[in-house]
Amino acid sequence: MSTVTTSEQSLLETIPNQLLIGGAWRDASGGATLAVEDPATGETLVQVADATPEDALAALAAADEAQAAWGQHPPRERGEVLRRAFEEMTARADELALLMTLEMGKNVAEARAEVLYAAEFLRWFSEEAVRIHGRYMTAASGVGRVLTMKQPVGPCLFVTPWNFPAAMGTRKIGPALAAGCTVVVKPAQQTPLSMLALAEILQRAGAPDGVVNVITSSSSSSVVKPLLEDPRLRKLSFTGSTEVGRALIAQAAPQVLRVSMELGGNAPFIVFGDADVDAAVEGAILAKMRNIGEACTAANRLYVHESIAGEFAGKLAERLAAMTVGRGTDDDSAIGPLIDDKQRQKVAELVQDAADKGAKILTGGSPVDGAGYFFEPTVLTDVPESADLLDEEIFGPVAPVIPFSSEDEVVASANRTEYGLVAYLFTNDLQRALRVCERLQTGMIGLNTGIVSNAQAPFGGVKQSGFGREGGFEGIEEYLETKYVAVAL
Ligand code: NAP
Ligand code: MG
Repeated sequence: MSTVTTSEQSLLETIPNQLLIGGAWRDASGGATLAVEDPATGETLVQVADATPEDALAALAAADEAQAAWGQHPPRERGEVLRRAFEEMTARADELALLMTLEMGKNVAEARAEVLYAAEFLRWFSEEAVRIHGRYMTAASGVGRVLTMKQPVGPCLFVTPWNFPAAMGTRKIGPALAAGCTVVVKPAQQTPLSMLALAEILQRAGAPDGVVNVITSSSSSSVVKPLLEDPRLRKLSFTGSTEVGRALIAQAAPQVLRVSMELGGNAPFIVFGDADVDAAVEGAILAKMRNIGEACTAANRLYVHESIAGEFAGKLAERLAAMTVGRGTDDDSAIGPLIDDKQRQKVAELVQDAADKGAKILTGGSPVDGAGYFFEPTVLTDVPESADLLDEEIFGPVAPVIPFSSEDEVVASANRTEYGLVAYLFTNDLQRALRVCERLQTGMIGLNTGIVSNAQAPFGGVKQSGFGREGGFEGIEEYLETKYVAVAL
């Protein structure tokens, strides 16, 4: 018997399941579909269109055709489209949250927080649309003038991951539409529904035909590659794994395509001996357990000063052991399922590897029997530096605690990774805080907080975590070209 309730079923029936190309919802050419599954049960929820390379090229053609008019559309009106979409997303937060829980697994409260966070990017960039400006300067010689103008980059391709099905879309769509760019979005095949719902909202908010196109596909490489080879495409923005990002940068090279990359992370979470242990535990729960640990920003390595490491690990284990694991629609679910069995298997192997090398399991450590892809909230202590989970993204509810003795030692450990997305730092010593912030090789730092995400702030990484920034004043720059005019008076 199906676990999907009748109200969930009727919600699913209201969500578009076709491709959006040039303002029209249509089936894939050839009519293929792909199944979207509930990771809490493994059941198929719905089928959505499975785009072909021809569909992808049709979407790019539509974006290209709409580009000139959208780029000249009054900025205020571009902003108003985003603003109306923000209003509708916010008003429908509950049902959009349920939809996200069904396809992705995170509990409804977290899904609702993502819907509101995602909507914030539409509001922020609705406000930025009218603040795009160039400059006019008298040349140093006093004779000529320097004039600069900002222009939209042109048609963009967005490839987004399953872990934040709405926010990873709005962080790109918001600034692109504000800047006057048209877009083709390819959401993750495991979570296309939130994006399809969002596309319909943008359409209803007044985005002209062809400004927002969405292609869902079971073969990401076959729909993405022809677009990267097509000179009509002017920009790729990708959020996902470093491995796929690297391949896409290579595929973008022949066209010298502008790219933005939001890739993987391996965040250190550092707690100094002077920190408030309870506040640090609270921060660790946010940084580690949010999104079932499936976040690029997830605390992957918890370095705790040896004077408080035992107390910290004990308190963290107590809190995690009390978290209820269950389908995200259950009222008491704190931890939903992982996205699929492959991901769960990887988490289990990383825990086993650490245990084999001498780590102690304080709580959890195993997959949960039964339907769905659940894994127990887990705390490991005395994790040796040789454990694989200190080098790889865990992407699961597993917190490895590693004691350290000195500031130099912990900074070196924190930076010993090819990733550089975010770090977290807990200390009450202001000088140490700033000193360590300067030394950490990451694009972002949470200082005495376990969460950094904020539409007003520039989100992004260094090293192999990527380049480009999403959100903040910086976010719109990714979608603007600067043209310089040398003026002789
Ligand atoms: P992924 O496997 O890299 O997939 C991301 C997107 O790329 C999906 O839409 C996927 O399509 C598509 N894709 C996969 N292979 C492709 C190819 N050869 N050509 C074109 N497109 C391709 O990543 P994921 O497993 O979905 O997401 C988790 C990763 O994203 C983690 O590494 C996480 O750290 C990272 N992430 C980073 C940020 C950030 O802002 N830095 C934010 C969130 C997540 P399919 O769905 O069909 O596979
Ligand atoms: Mg994947």
